Amino acid sequence: MPDVFADLVGQDEAVGTLRRAAAAAAAVLRGPAQPAGVGAGRTATTGADLNAFAEEAEAEGPPATPAVDPGAGMTHAWIFTGPPGSGRSVAARAFAAALQCAYGTGCGECPGCHTTMTGTHADVRLVVPEGLSIGVGEMRALVLRAASTPSGGRWQVVIIEDADRLTEAAGNALLKAIEEPPPRTVFLLCAPSTHPDDVSVTIRSRCRVVPLRQPPAAAVAEVLVRRDGIAPDVAHWAAAAAQGHVGRARRLARDPEARQRRDAVLAVPRRLTGVGTALDAASALIEAAEAEAEASVAEADAAERAALQTALGAGGTGRGAAGAMRGAAGQLKDLEKRQKSRATRAQRDALDRALVDLAGFYRDALTMALRAPVAPVHTDTAAMAEAGAQKWDAEGALRRLEAVLECRAAIEANVKPRIAVEAMMLALWKG
Ligand SMILES: [Zn+2]
Repeated sequence: MPDVFADLVGQDEAVGTLRRAAAAAAAVLRGPAQPAGVGAGRTATTGADLNAFAEEAEAEGPPATPAVDPGAGMTHAWIFTGPPGSGRSVAARAFAAALQCAYGTGCGECPGCHTTMTGTHADVRLVVPEGLSIGVGEMRALVLRAASTPSGGRWQVVIIEDADRLTEAAGNALLKAIEEPPPRTVFLLCAPSTHPDDVSVTIRSRCRVVPLRQPPAAAVAEVLVRRDGIAPDVAHWAAAAAQGHVGRARRLARDPEARQRRDAVLAVPRRLTGVGTALDAASALIEAAEAEAEASVAEADAAERAALQTALGAGGTGRGAAGAMRGAAGQLKDLEKRQKSRATRAQRDALDRALVDLAGFYRDALTMALRAPVAPVHTDTAAMAEAGAQKWDAEGALRRLEAVLECRAAIEANVKPRIAVEAMMLALWKG
């Protein structure tokens, strides 16, 4: 039976950190005086099944009693960060399960693990800001509930899946709870990074950060086969082509449109025959990213607008209506601002995926020119990369790879995408 961390692909270091913290948390529950004592420090009177199971487990001794490392430090607030697809919310949920695990390990079998992983544990709340982002009212209610005694006798866990989508007021409400955490409450935040655009500096300073890395292709392929039932050859191709992005690998394996977009990007190198074609290729890349982004956010945008209009329409008239209207204008503005920044991010993500695909192609040409014994990223364009390797040599392939990486860095540093992509295409053509 795989434990709760099994789906966290290629994240050995983070998993090690989380296992140690879960063990430390279990030790906190046992209490300092009786490290292995039965029921010491337990305060809950309900959740009898889980308690009984825990007592039995402790009496028998768990299968692998984790050694408690005093430096491992259990703490009340965590942020999981990492590149898209690295599994931030998978990590947060697995850690929540380990905290609720009767053995303190995340065994995957006990009721605490099982109910957390299936989303039915009474003391684990998952906040996914689908629709409107989390507002201050919802956050205050959440913080209040999270302060109550855990019914299962262990921890109250709140997972906030897109912490970068908290409104400022909601962030402040959360900050208060993190600054003075109730003794049995743990907040698990997921965000793309700890950049101030994603998480406020004050929240970040109160949290322990768990950085996730880009998982290796073999690990991604293994999980596609095991969890999603994808045929092994397709899984290996998709995992390599997605370069460590678990969700992207799954999309490539299943979605023909995603494969077509990738094919179009990988056709770029052989189309670059002059200044004109280079600029055309730049336009095509930008427009494809815009179209992909628009499609990905359109549905959510419309649903959010409808939900907000419904909520505001229910406001009624009479005393307080003027105040409500002022509030409504603010909420609408807030929503538009968030949707705009989400659209921008979706565009950048789409463009970045295309650039990562392109970088993979030139990286293949480089390793082939060097006769390096490594597998190509894109097995289906290997012949074209080999032709490039012959024509450009290692230096030429390296210069082109660098042009793609410079383009990514420029966009990251807020250079206008079109300008950065045009410069890249010209560099790819000239070599
Ligand atoms: Zn367990």
